[in-house]
Order: sequence, then structure tokens, then C-alpha cells
Amino acid sequence: MVYLRDRGPTEIGGFGISDLEEPLLITDVVLIPQQCTSVTVKFDDAGVADYFDAQVDLGRRPEEFARLWIHTHPGTSPEPSGTDETTFARVFGSSDWAVMFILARGGATYAQLRFRAGPGGQVRIPVEVDFGHEFAASDQATWNHEYQENVRMPLPELPFGTTDPLVESRFDRRLWDEFNEREMMELDDPFLLREEIR
Ligand SMILES: [Zn+2]
Repeated sequence: MVYLRDRGPTEIGGFGISDLEEPLLITDVVLIPQQCTSVTVKFDDAGVADYFDAQVDLGRRPEEFARLWIHTHPGTSPEPSGTDETTFARVFGSSDWAVMFILARGGATYAQLRFRAGPGGQVRIPVEVDFGHEFAASDQATWNHEYQENVRMPLPELPFGTTDPLVESRFDRRLWDEFNEREMMELDDPFLLREEIR
């Protein structure tokens, strides 16, 4: 996770995997194909579906692969943004329980558990690294591959007011503006597209 956080300049996100015995012990992190900026992550809807299918094929239950939403902050603050909070409530509000975990550069963490039992509620929970469990050896080559497979960044902005005919012919300015507007509207709710096609 630390490796993935520091691999590039953007936020990245994915799901933690645990097991039924110890649902809050994250044993692996899986990245979802995603479009990232320094303040946003947007999961590909097909990527989330593929991930769920693959996990079910492995014989895992949703409690083991779909309750731990993880993302990084490239800044030093792990505090959830307003969008993080609303996304968490909207997407995971109907689950029996779920955790939003944020790892910031520098190592600060934030974890919030929300649950539906009784009146329902949410509580901030402590985070610790459990060295008492076996864990796989560091494998930066594999992690790097996973990063490159899944994390994409938007094309660089055109210089303001550019009239370079070469640039203009390669980018349809109108399409580009529409694209940017859409991006702004979908601002950093990684699950938004998926919800729309349901
Ligand atoms: Zn965030």
C-alpha cells in the first residue's frame, strides 16, 4: 500500500481483502482500473464489475472483498473529504458494515467503520499493522505492474488560449471542454458511473 501510494503523484484506490474470521484484518489490496488526479479517483464501472466477478470465482464472499474501501491521499492529511464521506454513505450505506480507509503520504491513516445494526452508526477505528500474521514478501515488480495496469491520469491540459494549428487539429477543443466539464461534475466519487448503469 505504501509502495502504491508513492508510486505516482495522484490518489489511488481499491479494495482491501480480508476473511470471514477476521474481517478487519486486511491481507491484500486490489487496485481497480481507474482514472486519477491528485484529488480524485474514479473507478471504471467495468473494472469494479470484473473485480467482483473474479472474487466470487475465487470463492470469496462480499464480506471478504467488498467492505473495505481503500484510497490514498497524496497530501499529508488522511482526513476524508466531503465527497469521501458522501460516497461512503451512499455506496456502502446499505451494507451491514463497511470501512473507509485512507492512507496519506507521510504515513498518517484514517479509518471509519459504519454499521447498520441497531440504530446504525459510524465510528472512527484505530489502525495498526499486524506483524503477528504471516504476510507475503515485498514484491515491487508485481506491485508496479498492478499500478501500471490500473492507474491512468488525464491528458495534460492544453495551454490556455492556444492557437497552435497542430495542437488544434489534434484536439477538438469543443470535445475537450465537454470532457473537462464532465470530469468536474463527476468529481472524485469513484463509484458514480457504476451507480448510473445499475
Ligand atoms: Zn479522499
